[in-house]
Amino acid sequence: MTSQFRSLPSVDRLLAEDAIKELAAIYPRDLIINLVRQTLETERSAIAKSKTPASLDRIVASITNELDRIGSVSLRPVINATGVILHTNLGRAPLSHDAMQAIDSIAGRYCNLEFDVDSGERGWRDTHVESLICRLTGAGAALVVNNNAAAVLLALTVLAKRKEVIVSRGESVEIGGGFRITEVMRQSGARLVEIGATNCTYVNDYEEAITPGTAALLRVHSSNFRVVGFTHSVALDELVALGDKNNLPVIDNLGSGCFLDTTVFGLDPEPLVTRSIAAGAKLVCFSGDKLVGGPQAGIIVGSQELIARLKKHPLDRALRLDKIRLAGMAATLIHYLKGEALEKVPIWMMISTGIEQIDRRARKWAEALGGMARVVDGESMVGGGSLPGGTLPTRLVAIGGGGKKSRYRVHVLAQRLRQHDPPVVGRINEDVLLLDPRTVLPDEDKAVIDALRRLTA
Ligand SMILES: *Cc1c(COP(=O)(O)O)cnc(C)c1O
Repeated sequence: MTSQFRSLPSVDRLLAEDAIKELAAIYPRDLIINLVRQTLETERSAIAKSKTPASLDRIVASITNELDRIGSVSLRPVINATGVILHTNLGRAPLSHDAMQAIDSIAGRYCNLEFDVDSGERGWRDTHVESLICRLTGAGAALVVNNNAAAVLLALTVLAKRKEVIVSRGESVEIGGGFRITEVMRQSGARLVEIGATNCTYVNDYEEAITPGTAALLRVHSSNFRVVGFTHSVALDELVALGDKNNLPVIDNLGSGCFLDTTVFGLDPEPLVTRSIAAGAKLVCFSGDKLVGGPQAGIIVGSQELIARLKKHPLDRALRLDKIRLAGMAATLIHYLKGEALEKVPIWMMISTGIEQIDRRARKWAEALGGMARVVDGESMVGGGSLPGGTLPTRLVAIGGGGKKSRYRVHVLAQRLRQHDPPVVGRINEDVLLLDPRTVLPDEDKAVIDALRRLTA
């Protein structure tokens, strides 16, 4: 072992290697020396564990690879062939062309973020989206924050700190990624009063729970699950009537929030923001990057009086949006105002794509795989904690299936697709690798076909 330790190259020996000298022209010397030392350290512990020491070439390669990794942004495009339209792990909504342009035009420059060009005086960042949101939703005022979790946190903090908020047991949900209504309530300092039973809550349940300490009635859209069978929940109008009678605001956490009718596409009805406002909810919270199809954000709409209170709270400053996301959000909202969302907002283009078009693309993909693949019926999912019953009929490219050996092979093929540049991500169901063209942007077809051809090579 001692001789193996001794056989390791010295730091100076490695620094004299051509490949490393080349990198020294790009990266600071300290960084390179650090990496060289780290790599040698890793080698020493490998030898201590009786592993065969790496060759000089291997050590040099591992140093140059690591430097390449450090010097490149790890966030990169991925092709989503999973068929899940709002895939949280893959970044939820891809932005429209106009949204990207709006971002591009201001990202590398100064802009009028908080500056009124006409008067030359200070302006407010929310003005760039507030009137658009109000026009779309019929609300009196609007505010945007970091995400919908932040929107709920801000609303509860301002309205209900050290007070009680009534919520139905059936709506006290966990959205995923650790977002539990109860936990957010606790952070806000509000006390959660859960009422009713998991499957049934009636308006009396709310009424009986109201005390002098009650600050609000909260409704939560049960985004990602559904209670079926014997169920009852209270309609928003009924809840608002009860709230009005007791001078209590209703906060409606819609989760996804939606501006378009989803039933047109054979999907379950996703509650519309306009309807919550029309029903009289005083604050309505929803995400910017679910069915709105914009950048990550939380949108709060509601009464001018309550929104003004939210804007004045110090937490609003901590949760606010930057210029890049405001630009992308404004451009996204304009698509809805112009009535062109189905043609311009990528997630709506995906939702509204006809099955014939998907079938045509699936066949092209399958051709690239020769006899390895077949085209089958399947379902795409809306995802993102919206529309629990939200699936759309689709056509899938299916690879593999049948037998233990095939299971291994399918996982290897999936891995090879992920190793392609850009990575192609599919889904595996019962040992079959499935690829759904619905969630692949049309200009990515060439890359998918290229990745598939390589599988057969
Ligand atoms: C998705 C969702 C959230 C969280 O929204 P983010 O924008 O991801 O923070 C909160 N509540 C409900 C009901 C949701 O569906």
